[in-house]
Amino acid sequence: MQSTFVPEAPRQFSILGVSVDLLPDYLQWLTQRIIQGLGTHVVTLNAEMTMQTEVDPLLAEIIEAAELVIPDGAGIVLYLRLYGEQIPRCPGIELSEALLRCAAAQPQPWSVFFFGGAPEVVSAAAEQWQQRLPKLALVGTQHGYLKSEDTPAFLETLSTRQPQIIFVGLGVPRQEYWIAQHRYLCPHALWIGVGGSFDIWAKRKTRAPKWLRNNNLEWVYRLYQEPWRWRRMLALPQFAWRALMAKFG
Ligand code: UDP
Repeated sequence: MQSTFVPEAPRQFSILGVSVDLLPDYLQWLTQRIIQGLGTHVVTLNAEMTMQTEVDPLLAEIIEAAELVIPDGAGIVLYLRLYGEQIPRCPGIELSEALLRCAAAQPQPWSVFFFGGAPEVVSAAAEQWQQRLPKLALVGTQHGYLKSEDTPAFLETLSTRQPQIIFVGLGVPRQEYWIAQHRYLCPHALWIGVGGSFDIWAKRKTRAPKWLRNNNLEWVYRLYQEPWRWRRMLALPQFAWRALMAKFG
């Protein structure tokens, strides 16, 4: 029997004007919402994205409207620590993996959809997960380089299949714009922007080693793996400076 428990609204904390949600267990909260069929947009907040909201009011508005904003980046967790909030990092990729396992483990597996990444990437990611979780109800995939003439057919597919969880990997802020614009198609679904997770699941890229992740240094590894990110990453020292000024300035 389905529970009628409606998950409580999480406690919020403002990170330089962007609200992040503080919960002891994000997966459990989302599981309840999926069971209830409550449409949910999950934003995985990091320092770079926080700085982006200052020059992108639409992105700020979308994050504000999202039902759940998780502390994805090390910068967010360190910021929270400055104020005595001891919340562990909740990387979007790990939450997404937990959601996939949870979806496949249901007596009637929840349906999931992968959208984004290069054509060979999204199909390899799908294959990997299907092998790992044979019960996974992956009801479709779509790469993220769709021609405009093919878009209506894709939207129709989403609308007909009504997946319960939709993973959107188009990068920030494209995926956030896309979800905000199209979530009406599957109003009961959980939508989550997963950035480059398909590349990792497809084994085209790797995550930072655990010791770097545990020391809040995943960004160093990303810079090493994708040096062209350096310009985007200038937002990190800027964020650190703003965080210190907000606290001690
Ligand atoms: N991507 C896409 N369509 C586009 C642009 C990008 O599907 O038009 C994909 C790209 O192939 C990659 C992901 O979006 O898989 C972006 O990954 P990135 O690690 O840059 O994400 P971010 O750091 O912005 O979250």
